Amino acid sequence: MNTTNVVEVKRRRDTTMYIFRTVKGLQEYLLAQGDHVIGFTPTMGALHDGHISLLHRSKQETSISVVSIFVNPTQFNNPDDLSKYPRTLDRDLDILYAADCDVVFVPTVEEMYPEGMRVGSEIDLNGLDQRMEGVFRPGHFNGMAQVVLRLLEIVNPGRLFMGQKDFQQYAIIRHLIELLHLPIKLVMCPTMREVNGLAMSSRNVRLDPVMREHASVIYKTLKYCAEHIHDTPVSDLQELCFHKLEIPGFRPEYFEIVDGSTLLPANEHTQYVVACCAIWAGDVRLIDNMILRE
Ligand code: AMP
Repeated sequence: MNTTNVVEVKRRRDTTMYIFRTVKGLQEYLLAQGDHVIGFTPTMGALHDGHISLLHRSKQETSISVVSIFVNPTQFNNPDDLSKYPRTLDRDLDILYAADCDVVFVPTVEEMYPEGMRVGSEIDLNGLDQRMEGVFRPGHFNGMAQVVLRLLEIVNPGRLFMGQKDFQQYAIIRHLIELLHLPIKLVMCPTMREVNGLAMSSRNVRLDPVMREHASVIYKTLKYCAEHIHDTPVSDLQELCFHKLEIPGFRPEYFEIVDGSTLLPANEHTQYVVACCAIWAGDVRLIDNMILRE
């Protein structure tokens, strides 16, 4: 192994965590490990228990767990959102070490995009990027697909762990893996929530305590939706839930009940039904979803 590319090694008794900043260093290390199933969890850092649940699953199902931390500029359509995105690398590394992570990849923008950051508009996302988040965050999913494909090329995992929390993102990556015939098993991990039901998110730290408490309205509304999907017409339920999110200080952008495979509007006959929503809590944008029927 070429240790000159290892930035730092955290070691305690028999546990070692390697941290790489370069593609070359990471790849040489992984190659030297021989024939292992690599489990990969891509993140943008500011880690919380939601991220760590993905790592735990990876530890259970694979022999080497790699977590990447990279705040990808190409998926931020709003420069303000990018500059305000929390960056807590030292803390993240401590959390990963405590969670027994094997390898952390923390690349620079230059390392990720040596030929520049132009987003590959040639990536065919089959219209999955045009709805819900895609309407309010134009270009977001092209940037996300670009970075995930680049990371998969670098890490070459057997399993990829993603959260249900970002359901549309999951659906797009599922489509890309099928389209490109990538030999990767995609594993969807359940959404981890705070005690009041708010989905854990790196953005939650920007909510003041009152907003954070009131944000439980999102989970309550999704649960209401799940309880009424069998007795209320889909379009009525959608509208009702949108209005339930209109509490003081909060502004919903969408509440949609969709087919979980196509992300097109669901109807009474749809088998795989998911409710997805986005809402502004003050100046913090939150998303959440719930699988209503599978
Ligand atoms: P991010 O750092 O926001 O890009 O998220 C990295 C991964 O963690 C994505 O696959 C997310 O879906 C997943 N994730 C984020 N929040 C949660 C959560 N509350 N529960 C489970 N997974 C999550």
